[in-house]
Amino acid sequence: MSEKYIKKGGDGYTRHTQSNISSNAAFGDGNEAIAWAAQDAGVNYVSHYPGSPVNRVVDVLSDAQHSQDYLINHALNEHIAALAVMGASLCGARSLLVMKHVGLNIAADPLNYSAVTKIRGGMVVVVGTDPGARSSTGEEDVHWYAPQFNLPLLEPATVQGVYECVKQAFSYSEQAQMPVLVFVPGRIAYQSSLIQRTPEDLPARSFCFEKDPENLINVGVRAVRNHRQHILRLQQFQHQEQRYSLHFNPQAQFGMVTRGASFGICHEVIESLGLGKQIELLNIELSYPLNIQAFLSFAKNKQKVIVAEDQDGFLETLIKREAFGKVKCEVHGKDIFPIWGELCDAQIRDYLSHEFEIRPGNHVGSVGSVGSSVTDLKIKVDCPERPGSFCEGCPHRSSFYGIDRALQQKNMQKKGGMGIHGIIGGDIGCSSLPPHRTDWLLCMNAGIGISQGIAQLLPDQPLVSTGGEGSFFHGGLISLQSAVENKIKLTHIIFDNRSIAMTGHQDSPTTSGTTDMRKLLQAIGVKHILEVNAFKSSEVTQAIHKAQKIQGVKVIWIRGNCALQPDSEALRRYRERKLFIHNEKCQGCQLCYEKLQCPAIVKQQELLHIDLHRCRRCTACLDVCPNSAIEVDDKVM
Ligand code: SF4
Ligand code: SF4
Repeated sequence: MSEKYIKKGGDGYTRHTQSNISSNAAFGDGNEAIAWAAQDAGVNYVSHYPGSPVNRVVDVLSDAQHSQDYLINHALNEHIAALAVMGASLCGARSLLVMKHVGLNIAADPLNYSAVTKIRGGMVVVVGTDPGARSSTGEEDVHWYAPQFNLPLLEPATVQGVYECVKQAFSYSEQAQMPVLVFVPGRIAYQSSLIQRTPEDLPARSFCFEKDPENLINVGVRAVRNHRQHILRLQQFQHQEQRYSLHFNPQAQFGMVTRGASFGICHEVIESLGLGKQIELLNIELSYPLNIQAFLSFAKNKQKVIVAEDQDGFLETLIKREAFGKVKCEVHGKDIFPIWGELCDAQIRDYLSHEFEIRPGNHVGSVGSVGSSVTDLKIKVDCPERPGSFCEGCPHRSSFYGIDRALQQKNMQKKGGMGIHGIIGGDIGCSSLPPHRTDWLLCMNAGIGISQGIAQLLPDQPLVSTGGEGSFFHGGLISLQSAVENKIKLTHIIFDNRSIAMTGHQDSPTTSGTTDMRKLLQAIGVKHILEVNAFKSSEVTQAIHKAQKIQGVKVIWIRGNCALQPDSEALRRYRERKLFIHNEKCQGCQLCYEKLQCPAIVKQQELLHIDLHRCRRCTACLDVCPNSAIEVDDKVM
């Protein structure tokens, strides 16, 4: 049996032993591996839009910025970030662009044409993917962007591999004069391991922009010529480069092919089932453009090859296309594994157990061992299905309470004819997290966007669109201006919690205070701006009623800091204020407990109490209680 590793630029499957751990080794996760690789490759410029699972990369780079010679651009969306990085790269800077998979949709416009510009400094595009949609609104397979953009795609299989791929990608990019994509799934981005760092001793770069109309004014005959030249450069790269590793038995007639996170799962399952003699495993790291040579020599002695990968079957499709008529073996993939969800070890284990007629308990990973599968263990856990909740002291809780109250008022029901409720247009971000108070949750700026269409078709329908200030600056601003231009009767709510809280509390323009929201809204033609306190749900309700009577676009600007980013005043309140429920006054209406649903309000022996360990002293519950039963013992009031 063999463990033959990738031929160029590291193996992506380093086994660390006492003897090969150098002084440059450090323990880190996939996010740190990306940041450290960029530093060690001499990155000069970084831009990003935060998104899980690669939301910590720029935090790591920012924390170390004092000792490193690179600039960081915290862009307001991925389109802007992509263009900024291209600009830096055209000046000769090694540049890093970071975003999550859905961000690639926003950056697709510039990236479609990035290759024809013949960028100068290495440009690496790191994309966090999310099969299984753990932290996204969908598990879109963005692999298809690689052939659409015609850009190389590297897919590391381990945390060490992430470090090596990102570092290598800068060289590849300069060599091929095109950006290089590196996809890192959540399973690897959040995994930790020892990372062997190999910093490069690079000479300092000097930057300049060289006028190059032949490549940078890409129109007419130049567009076709540049496209052709780019494809030729990509083909040259394809024939020169391949990154793969071979594992287990080269004489085996059964083969498995993996990429990214599926490598680790398959390797572990093959080992635990004791199938190392019956299987050879090929892991492909440079998945686009696919150099088919490694597969062809791997497949020569095989009778059957299974491509095990997440999502749509990108690698299987490429293999079948490139190897068509050149191999005799059967090639399977998505006829065995589903195209939805994240590939898991139980699926591989079940398939291989069936294929090799292994009965449960008849292998090294049988019940009770580390390698045993979910199906082997036969443990069924019945978890109660609970609605999620905003944090204690979250400004969105009382805001939605105020919105619900407004939309449930009888006069609005009659107008809309909706029976129970008006419509709440939802965006993505922390305001749309469970308990899912909005009526949809799709993509950035879907709040204003979809609501416009509904508002035009159903002008009498009670409706408010919503979104955080992060989403507003991402692209909502243009959407709102479009609604103004089209004279749509629309009430839009901006939840301004002064933080892009969903992805790790990155700053938004209202955190820094550089943008005057009121003047900005006025500048795009919004005539009615109602500013309210997020913790006063009655103000929210009144503002909605007022706005519904006004024609055109109205903005309700709901202000209240994220509970996890308190300002000095909030901290002082937390230290000096106590809230309690006066049981003699409480009428048991449950509004604070069942409707507001603050987790700090708890039931003990049928009486309601405020758990002061959890309570953030936001006072939202005070505004909700119709009987003034919630009281404040306040040294600061
Ligand atoms: S109990 Fe009241 S004051 Fe405390 S966090 Fe909850 S809503 Fe805010
Ligand atoms: S809202 Fe007031 S009256 Fe109603 S249950 Fe809560 S504390 Fe009691």
